[in-house]
Amino acid sequence: MVRAVKTRQCAGCGEYRDAKEMFRIVRTPEKEIVFDPSGRMNGRGVYLCRNNSCIEKAFSRKGIARSLHLNLQPQTESDLKQLISKEMDGIEE
Ligand SMILES: [Zn+2]
Repeated sequence: MVRAVKTRQCAGCGEYRDAKEMFRIVRTPEKEIVFDPSGRMNGRGVYLCRNNSCIEKAFSRKGIARSLHLNLQPQTESDLKQLISKEMDGIEE
């Protein structure tokens, strides 16, 4: 039996990957942009590979703001980056 894998496009490099292996950032119904470590929050999401270059690229090219149709405030951006880097520290490879 073939298991269906839910793939999503990375906002940094543009490649498709298994959504479970990616970071997700969500625009909530309250129009806030938040990091979603569980991948289960409601709202429009943007996906990123779990590596620094994709994350940097997605932020610097405004890929996140564009995907979510919402301006990303500098404060929100630095909060998100901090949360993501904390999460990456927790991944042992
Ligand atoms: Zn990527």
